[in-house]
Amino acid sequence: MADKNKERRRQARGANADNVCQRDDLPESQVKEYHYMLLVLPEELAVLEKYREALVNGTSGFAEIYYNYLFDNPDIADALYSFERSGGDTGSLIRAELANMLGSVVNSPDPAREAGLLNAGSALREYGFRSVWIVASYNLLINYITGTLSGLDAPSSEKESLRSVIARLLLRDMGLTIEGFWRSAHETIEKEMLHFERELGTVEDLLSGIPHYVWSVDIDSNRVIYANASLHAMYATRLAAPVPCLSDTAEEDQQQLLTAWQTAVSGTRTYAEVRISLAGAEQHWYRISMYPSMGQAERRPVLVHCILEDINHLISERKLLEQMATTDKLTQLPNRALWSDHLNMALAASRRVPGSQVIVISLDINQFKMYNDTLGHDVGDVLLRDVADRLNSIVRESDSLARLGGDQFGILMQPVNSARAATERVITQILDSFDIPFSSSGKHLCVNLTMGIACFPEDGTSEESLLTNAESAMHRAKRNGLPYQYFDPLNDVSPVDQLRYSGQMRAALDNNEFMLHYQPQVDLQTSRITGVEALLRWEHPVEGTVMPQRIIPVAEQLGMITPITNWVLVTALRQCKQWSYDGMHIPVAVNVSARSFLNPRLLEKIQWALNETGTDGECLEIEITEATLMQDIEGAAGVLNRLSDIGVTIAIDDFGTGYSSLSYLKQLPIHTLKIDQSFIIDVAFDQQDVAIVRSIIDLGHNLGYKVVAEGVENGLAWDMLNNLGCDTAQGFHISRPLPDNRFSNWLAESGHMS
Ligand code: C2E
Ligand code: MG
Ligand code: MG
Repeated sequence: MADKNKERRRQARGANADNVCQRDDLPESQVKEYHYMLLVLPEELAVLEKYREALVNGTSGFAEIYYNYLFDNPDIADALYSFERSGGDTGSLIRAELANMLGSVVNSPDPAREAGLLNAGSALREYGFRSVWIVASYNLLINYITGTLSGLDAPSSEKESLRSVIARLLLRDMGLTIEGFWRSAHETIEKEMLHFERELGTVEDLLSGIPHYVWSVDIDSNRVIYANASLHAMYATRLAAPVPCLSDTAEEDQQQLLTAWQTAVSGTRTYAEVRISLAGAEQHWYRISMYPSMGQAERRPVLVHCILEDINHLISERKLLEQMATTDKLTQLPNRALWSDHLNMALAASRRVPGSQVIVISLDINQFKMYNDTLGHDVGDVLLRDVADRLNSIVRESDSLARLGGDQFGILMQPVNSARAATERVITQILDSFDIPFSSSGKHLCVNLTMGIACFPEDGTSEESLLTNAESAMHRAKRNGLPYQYFDPLNDVSPVDQLRYSGQMRAALDNNEFMLHYQPQVDLQTSRITGVEALLRWEHPVEGTVMPQRIIPVAEQLGMITPITNWVLVTALRQCKQWSYDGMHIPVAVNVSARSFLNPRLLEKIQWALNETGTDGECLEIEITEATLMQDIEGAAGVLNRLSDIGVTIAIDDFGTGYSSLSYLKQLPIHTLKIDQSFIIDVAFDQQDVAIVRSIIDLGHNLGYKVVAEGVENGLAWDMLNNLGCDTAQGFHISRPLPDNRFSNWLAESGHMS
């Protein structure tokens, strides 16, 4: 098409060029042509010669007439002034023109002078003259000479001959001047045409050289009025307007193309990205850009220029970038950013369906750092991939599994029915599947996960709070050596708490803001007090009493748990000593968290506290949870044995909530099982709780332990526990935990000492 366009223009130009060529363009031959067409015979010239002098004298008045003609005509006067302004000499111009006009009358015929008229005509055009002005000035001259002739003293036959020959001579001069005028116009147009053609040729070469398809559509006639070579080669005669590639466009993208066309037709630049299969080739992504072009007269778009470019590589790169931005490279799972998007979408959907829930599970590989450090990062990477695959095989397609960073994964679920049941099912599946060891480089690796679960809307309503709370629950599960935990606002430390308390906790210890409340444990048979449990409180100057669930986890994370445990030990034992001064033997039970228990200097600290307060080991009971024990059974056995050696007794706290291995329990010097209050609170009403409590009591007694029931809130529970043979009760029914002074009053009043 590009070549065709060129050809068409060449032809058009050629037609003009041919016209020019048919004429002989040389000045001499043109003069000859005029001489031939407006023939002057020698005898006519002889007559002219005879009267030349009289005629020359007779033309002397024409100069004034010519001047007046020029300056009385406003358009001609303007042209002359502008000639003057651009540096021309108007006087010389007019004199030269006057000489040219009178040349035939004044001089004998001279072909060289006549050829010069061609240049004069060309010059007049360049100075802004119009051809009609030249014709009109010759008309003036003919009139003037006609007047002169009528006054000439000559026979009428000679006068007639003079009139005729002068008319032909002046027509010749005028013709040559006009010829020069239009020849110069023609040359200018030729030059401009050449210039435009060159420019157009460059644009056309450019358009046929670019790897895009370009076309223009006339909106009114709905015709493709231009197509570059590539498009022409592609569609040849099937160049359907307005979008030739519409029929090759994927069906689902066609509407997009039509919409883009409508937008362009209404005057707005636009583009569409669509899939096209050109000439039966593989489908690629293309961008069609549409540029409306305004008609000058119409003041509305009349053309639309279109460019079709292959953007397949761009789309693939874009997809790759998107994938890189949203996918974890190692496991190919969604990364945190994409997962957050999924979570936000799930929350938005859930908000629209009252009662629906979203579950967020935070999963962490236990001791992954150890695998990485001991087996190398390559093995670590393989392990992460295997873990991802195993989790992926469990998670349903509608749920979302992501690697949130390091060895942390996240699962997002939108259960249809019971969220708790669905979560338990997935968690059980995960735990079961991780029972099977992983194999790496011929080695079997046992990998455990710890999980924390948060549920929308109860545990948080934003993506951030849900993930944070699931992570807090996960950390608590880790601390307690449990495979998973649900978020519990009482037990999980929020990062806000952590931040708030981080600067205050040490000062609190120095400022004596911590204090102990004492809760009695009472023999169910005799109602006599058997001991007290010391429970930590923080009398915060601004927030009031802060409960241990919020103190202990933060203290653990801030590395403050050891000084706090030491303070509790000394304070509780000092109180015990005080009671003994007052004549009461009341052993104190102190809670020791997992981190404190695993601290190798714990024994030393207990010994120091006993010495410092002058109390015997028998005055102290250490409460640890099953999970703490299970974290390092052998290490725990060593500590417990040493404690037992110095008379300190050991209680297993919150019994029934963990995963104790009974065979181990048997081997440890344990004295007391404290049944978790969750079994006790409803024991008077719930047969299942009765069954559990009964079996724990039996188990404890079989192993030779004292069994304490925590959370005895009412007389019915007391009676039930008494019937079941439980040894000791602790709970609000007997007394709430009390500060030392109020506890002393309670002791005095309650009669539990007697
Ligand atoms: P725990 O050792 O199981 O202590 C018993 C908790 O049950 C106490 O909560 C007590 O106030 C509460 N309780 C007692 N009787 C009843 C009852 O009849 N009904 C109900 N609903 N609750 C009852 P508290 O004082 O908030 O302590 C919570 C936990 O914080 C303790 O659970 C213990 O694990 C931990 N803790 C407390 N003081 C310390 C400490 O000094 N060091 C460490 N490491 N942990 C501590
Ligand atoms: Mg306790
Ligand atoms: Mg407890």
